[in-house]
Amino acid sequence: MEPVVIPLRTVFDRLLKRFGPQSWWPADDRFEMMVGAVLTQNTAWRNVERSLAALRQAGVLTPRALWCLPEPELQTLIRSSGFFQRKSQCLKNLARVICGPYRGRIDAFLAGDLLAVRRRLLDQPGIGPETADCIVLYAANLPIFVVDAYTRRIFSRLGLLDAQASYDTIQQYAMRRLPADHALFNEFHALLVALAKDCCRSRNPLCESCPLSDLCSFSS
Ligand code: SF4
Repeated sequence: MEPVVIPLRTVFDRLLKRFGPQSWWPADDRFEMMVGAVLTQNTAWRNVERSLAALRQAGVLTPRALWCLPEPELQTLIRSSGFFQRKSQCLKNLARVICGPYRGRIDAFLAGDLLAVRRRLLDQPGIGPETADCIVLYAANLPIFVVDAYTRRIFSRLGLLDAQASYDTIQQYAMRRLPADHALFNEFHALLVALAKDCCRSRNPLCESCPLSDLCSFSS
């Protein structure tokens, strides 16, 4: 099947009109944002919220407090997010790196150009492209297009890309067609999540109420 051409700006404008500004990322500060990005791997956000609330209540939502926290205690606090052993190792390492070479300064850890910050994040165990890019976009405030399962589902249903396209292919597709605008990428990712939850569900998508239905290969 030939890929279709739909201006991504049109997709964005329609989603913004339908769902309004999403004000992402839902976090009180940049470290909480980073913790949330790790915890949300392979789980629903409501489970992450429970873990974040437990971490907040325990007073350990800072790099130093998390670094000092014994790992079994951390695992108990983040249990609701699943994969808690792997995620606790990732968070402990992140806290150790920020507290060690970067002396506890998150701004120093996130300093530099986009590629340097992304590389630094990808060098950390347990942080893959999606998590790294979320942190680059929402904590470092640098312009990168985040790809997640929702993006893949929507873009492939629209006919823009093959459902098996790689992370990098989807990201480059979007970044070649949109200006490198941090605010735009911030809002776009959040709006795609809103669409996936509201209409473009994995089973039985609600195409009749979707703001993209007249553009979409899947619904026609
Ligand atoms: S029209 Fe249907 S399949 Fe296409 S993007 Fe909207 S909800 Fe998804």
